[in-house]
Amino acid sequence: MLNIHILTLFPEFFESPFNVSIIKRACDKGLVDIELINIRDFSQDKHKKVDDYPYGGGCGMVMKPEPIFEAVEYVESKINTVNRRIILLSPQGKLFDQSIARNLSQEEHIVFICGHYEGIDERVKTLVTDEISIGDYILTGGEVPALAIVDAAIRFIPGVLGSSESPEDESFCEGLLEYPHYTRPEIYKGLKVPDVLLSGNHKQIELFRRREALKRTCEKRPDLFNRLKLTNDDIELLKGATYYKQELKNTY
Ligand code: SAM
Repeated sequence: MLNIHILTLFPEFFESPFNVSIIKRACDKGLVDIELINIRDFSQDKHKKVDDYPYGGGCGMVMKPEPIFEAVEYVESKINTVNRRIILLSPQGKLFDQSIARNLSQEEHIVFICGHYEGIDERVKTLVTDEISIGDYILTGGEVPALAIVDAAIRFIPGVLGSSESPEDESFCEGLLEYPHYTRPEIYKGLKVPDVLLSGNHKQIELFRRREALKRTCEKRPDLFNRLKLTNDDIELLKGATYYKQELKNTY
């Protein structure tokens, strides 16, 4: 089981997303346990203050260290193991991706610290094992990043997805974007499902999907495409497609 503690000033933020769909199912099945900890509960201030003005001046308020240290100490005393990750959500952290998600899914305990306001007192960083960012933009708080990371990580826990779904068969898992999907009806507004998908020929369907995945990765994410180790079969598949030629020429 993956045990997750989320330290936040806004536990109510998570109420709806943790009570629907795959995250709820994972919790109900006992594969994941998520506990929300209100950082404000650890404020010693009589007004439950958790932020203060920045030393040196400047705009915005800074989250005080004491409530966060005490909240982390409380969680550590409960989980009683050194085998845990303490993740500070921060735009200055390592950029989150699918391989970090897979890696986190194998942990026993993860503690997330959600910042707010102008940020967190720098000394909190002495507590953490990781600093993670979900992208080069600034969000209001660490709650959206924590939610995104929990969602992406738990999909890798065996039993979380339905038996017909696999987290290893999706975009980014092989460094590729995923192939296109179609469902009924066969023709909609004159748009037809590719014949090969109706053919029942599994080998041809597999080749079609591989070609389409390579094609869209090349078109939409040349950065990923250029990092791929193409097999001889991939190169054969791509030979007929004019738009690959430049990329292939660059790479091979
Ligand atoms: N002043 C900070 C800076 O420029 O780096 C930004 C503070 S932001 C308004 C408040 C909090 O939101 C951060 O402490 C962090 O926990 C979270 N946050 C904002 N953007 C994030 C991102 N891209 N990835 C992860 N966490 C983020």
